[in-house]
Amino acid sequence: MDVRNCKRCGKVFTYRGMNLCNECFEKEQVDFQKVKDYLEENPGATLMEVSLNTGIDLRTINRFLREGRLEAEGVILNDSDITCEQCGKPIGSGRYCEDCLRKIQNELKEAAARLEKNKQLEGRRQIRIHTYDSIQNDDD
Ligand SMILES: [Zn+2]
Ligand SMILES: [Zn+2]
Repeated sequence: MDVRNCKRCGKVFTYRGMNLCNECFEKEQVDFQKVKDYLEENPGATLMEVSLNTGIDLRTINRFLREGRLEAEGVILNDSDITCEQCGKPIGSGRYCEDCLRKIQNELKEAAARLEKNKQLEGRRQIRIHTYDSIQNDDD
């Protein structure tokens, strides 16, 4: 008997040709349907959009793609020439490869933190400019 760990929840289960236990397989069917429905309404949506709007994480959607399930449905762009906009690596769909997506997400987080810092600095800078202006005005 072939026993494996479920790819999704890690539980040990009897292998029957899928990498998921029965429970997770059912859940994935639901997730898959959600992704499929979303793509039917929004053809050509990026992975990011699908993930944000369905609440299903990118890794799961990516797995659907890798398993050929979404491509088989012809919903996500079938074009094999699609490459990552960032590094040019060939990808099945969307705009960025997984690595770049992760980088972009990190950069977004950092940018948000920088913006917060800038806001504080800008507050100070405005005071300085204001002071400079009033000196100029005094000279006139
Ligand atoms: Zn499982
Ligand atoms: Zn990339």
